[in-house]
Amino acid sequence: MKKIEIYDTTLRDGAQGEGISFSGVGKIRVAKMLDELGVDYIEGGYAASNPKDMEFFQAIRKEKLQHARVAAFGSTRRAGVKAAEDAGSLALIEADTPVVTIFGKSWAFHVHEVLRTTEEENRAMIADTVRFLKENGREVIYDAEHFFDGYKDSPAHALATLRAAKEAGADRIVLCDTNGGTPYFEIGDITREVIAQIGGHVGIHTHNDSELGVANSLEAVRVGAMHVQGTINGFGERCGNANLVSIIPNLGLKMGYQVLSHPDKMKQLKAAADFVYEMANVRPNEKAAFVGHSAFAHKAGMHVDGVNKNPQSFEHIEPSSVGNQRRVLISELSGTSNVFLKAVEMGLNLDKKSPEVKSILKELEEMERKGYEFEAAEASFKLLIQKVLKAHKPFFALDAFRVIVEKRSKEDTCVSEASVKLRINGEVMHTVGEGDGPVDALNEAMRKALVAAFPSINDVSLVDYRVRILDPEEATAAKTRVLIESTDGTETWGTVGVSTNLIEASWEALVDSVEYKLFLDEQKKG
Ligand SMILES: [Zn+2]
Repeated sequence: MKKIEIYDTTLRDGAQGEGISFSGVGKIRVAKMLDELGVDYIEGGYAASNPKDMEFFQAIRKEKLQHARVAAFGSTRRAGVKAAEDAGSLALIEADTPVVTIFGKSWAFHVHEVLRTTEEENRAMIADTVRFLKENGREVIYDAEHFFDGYKDSPAHALATLRAAKEAGADRIVLCDTNGGTPYFEIGDITREVIAQIGGHVGIHTHNDSELGVANSLEAVRVGAMHVQGTINGFGERCGNANLVSIIPNLGLKMGYQVLSHPDKMKQLKAAADFVYEMANVRPNEKAAFVGHSAFAHKAGMHVDGVNKNPQSFEHIEPSSVGNQRRVLISELSGTSNVFLKAVEMGLNLDKKSPEVKSILKELEEMERKGYEFEAAEASFKLLIQKVLKAHKPFFALDAFRVIVEKRSKEDTCVSEASVKLRINGEVMHTVGEGDGPVDALNEAMRKALVAAFPSINDVSLVDYRVRILDPEEATAAKTRVLIESTDGTETWGTVGVSTNLIEASWEALVDSVEYKLFLDEQKKG
């Protein structure tokens, strides 16, 4: 099986994306995760311009990486200066990485207009820098910037720049579609021609401006490239870089190439994607291919029936092969199959035609008519099943709650105070909570009441709170639907509440959130 090298540039090209930033510690954690995932190269940043990147190179040297080789990024030497005296080239050595990646000009237009030098000097700049880095014992990857535009302008000129790099000893020649404008058929034709002209060890670096970042990378591999550069989640400037999270399973599962340090590493892809979102403080793309929350979510009833009988009938790969999982969405479209699958997922042993399944379905329809929606509130749905099956264990009961919202003067901000009266194991708990808003305050008061009896409630935090006013078409009266997402650090779950009163709807979703956590704890105990 042919091996395709995966070169990750999340920490350099990816970090140039709008709204993406990694802390110093974050960069080290991402690099260690990438190593664990089994990528072949990790580009850590610019050697010259950025002190934060230089700190990264220093810190990563102390980490024992299992597989990946770290690369520092920079440019060819400036015109008219020896590489050994060029500040940029010296910084690349100072970064002290096993691999150095340099970019150079392939497009004559850029040589004249940007560098303002001759084509001959441009080739000398490429060759000198490569030679200098090789003399210093580095593995050298040459990124040919704007290669496809340069080739379309003048194949002879573009190829001559590659030969300059190769003859000076570059280990990999990487063709870059820097502005992301080249379609896949041109990528294929040109890459094939380049390999015929200069030989193997050719790589591809594409951007997603034409939404072809992944397709272009795969096409280059199909015609002979052996090295792919990209970023986790497609992070990067403008529309982003080629997304490695899609490229890796396409190469490994669809095209039969060997990728990553071991085939089992593919199962870490979803976790890797989520981790990088987390470290960059970006909300995950739920629709992401392979690893998105919705990637294997099934809704329509008949469709779900098919998935249940044979998952291959509706899924292009087995979700677990990339660390994802099949989800069954609950909605009025569902029919018995969704309910049945959901029950199976919960470990309940039900017969599809049993009266229990029918009564769950009936209750579900009734709730949806009232304005509940369970697609994003699986935890509430599971509790609902428990209730219908009379298997629900109420951990506590509400006697009363009160919420006060106060603004003392025009200048003061609003403050909220809530008190709740709960009954836990026959004992009445009366607590008060404060917060920025009424729901915060209510949540605070409820936790205070519960935490003595159920200490694990301390681990639960709310990660999302969404309110929707329902249209009259959706419900019989004007109602508010509240969706809450909670996490205990390991699992994340959604709950729902509906009422004509916003606070009551919120309370309902909060109670489900807490009850679900306690339900999970019980399940774990067995
Ligand atoms: Zn790039």
